[in-house]
Amino acid sequence: MIGSEGTPVYLILGLICLIMSAITWVVLAHQRSHAAAYWCLGNLLFAGGLLLDWHGQGTPGWTGLPLANLIALGGLLSGVQALRLDQGAPWRPLGMALTSLGFLLAYEFLRQELGHATLRAGFVTLVWLLLVLQVARWAWRIARQRRSKGAMAIAASQLLLAGGLFIHLVELIRDAGRGEASTLHLLHIGFLGSVGVLTVLVSDVGFIGIILERSVRERLEAAASQARMEESLRLSNQLAQLDRQRSLGLMAATLAHELNQPLTAILASAQAARRGTAAKRLDSVQSLELLDKVILNTRRISGITDRIRSFIRPGQALSAPVDLVRITREMLELMQPDLRRHGVRVAFPAAGEPVLVQGDAVQLSQVVLNALRNAIEAVQLVPDRSLEIMLTRSASEAALCLRDSGPGLDPALAGQVGTPYFTTKEQGLGLGLSISTAILQQHQGSLTLRNAEGGGACVDIRLPLLAEGGS
Ligand code: ADP
Repeated sequence: MIGSEGTPVYLILGLICLIMSAITWVVLAHQRSHAAAYWCLGNLLFAGGLLLDWHGQGTPGWTGLPLANLIALGGLLSGVQALRLDQGAPWRPLGMALTSLGFLLAYEFLRQELGHATLRAGFVTLVWLLLVLQVARWAWRIARQRRSKGAMAIAASQLLLAGGLFIHLVELIRDAGRGEASTLHLLHIGFLGSVGVLTVLVSDVGFIGIILERSVRERLEAAASQARMEESLRLSNQLAQLDRQRSLGLMAATLAHELNQPLTAILASAQAARRGTAAKRLDSVQSLELLDKVILNTRRISGITDRIRSFIRPGQALSAPVDLVRITREMLELMQPDLRRHGVRVAFPAAGEPVLVQGDAVQLSQVVLNALRNAIEAVQLVPDRSLEIMLTRSASEAALCLRDSGPGLDPALAGQVGTPYFTTKEQGLGLGLSISTAILQQHQGSLTLRNAEGGGACVDIRLPLLAEGGS
């Protein structure tokens, strides 16, 4: 290899490489990647090369030094490849194979044609030196990029080994010049062996460090991104809830009016019952009629307050089957006072059967309510006020289209519509559409607002249909 005097050193170094390869493989049992496999294979091959060299020193031909050197070279290439893989810049297998072949041919040429042992040892030392520098280079890259102490240890120990190999190379060149082996040679091999052992130990521990640091960092990043996602979901739920409260706030006057009607009816029935009872001119049928009116109107009030309460429900979004026909009707009922007040004609020819999607009923109601509110506000700008709602379904999708007779979107501003805070209204916040879009995205759906053919705007809400038998 790099000098035949070093065979006991090869034995010790080979055994240490073998043991460290096994230890690394076992320690990284849960983090085994291609990089880890290459690293351990590199150790194994290098150990194989050293042991073969120790065992077959005198063996002539292929089973001796050439094969040992080739295997050791494969080990070093594998070590470099492990670090390159970690950096996402691996060598191509063909390149590695050609390098090995080139090495072998050059080695054989030196062995068979020139037969110069010192030159051959010098050549092998030079190749090792270059590969050790490659390991140091890639380890240094990782160390700088990730501030990895493990990679730093590898780079430092490999540089030390490179230093040792360089001294050895200089020594070999001097030998070649003098034509005889230096007396310091054995000392150098001993020193090189010690540095080799140290390098193998430090590098393997360093490599374990790199992989563990990376795995911990990846888990931390995954946890952080999960936390960010949860936080953004929480904030968007909070924003949606504030938007619902605002919608109800905007409807407060009409809702008060809506509640006032049944309350007035209750009061009138109660007063009639009192007067009739006091004057003793109320028979039991009349009394029951009045009481039925009280019950009916109380139910109307409780219906309205129930809708309001569930609409501003705080907390986490739920996921359950939601009937788009039902929530559209409910929102139309909630907006009924506004629609009446502004004289908006509504057409909603929905089929009798439910159109089911999976999601949160309150959030999806909010999307419909926002679209209704925008449509009512838009039609106020024109004398002919109508709203057409169409609910259709294809094989996998439900489409809810609200088309109003308003002025539609100004083409010059159309690109900005739907971006947060963009509004053309004096009292507008410009959040309704983006909140609706976010809600629909969470439901794997979409919202588009465009000008309808023949005038007016059209909101197109699409959601995946709940599969038959889904829950
Ligand atoms: P806001 O209603 O507070 O303005 P939105 O996000 O709901 O916020 O709407 C943003 C803008 O989109 C509105 O200001 C309006 O210019 C436009 N827009 C939304 N719906 C319609 C519609 N049906 N017709 C015309 N323009 C609309």
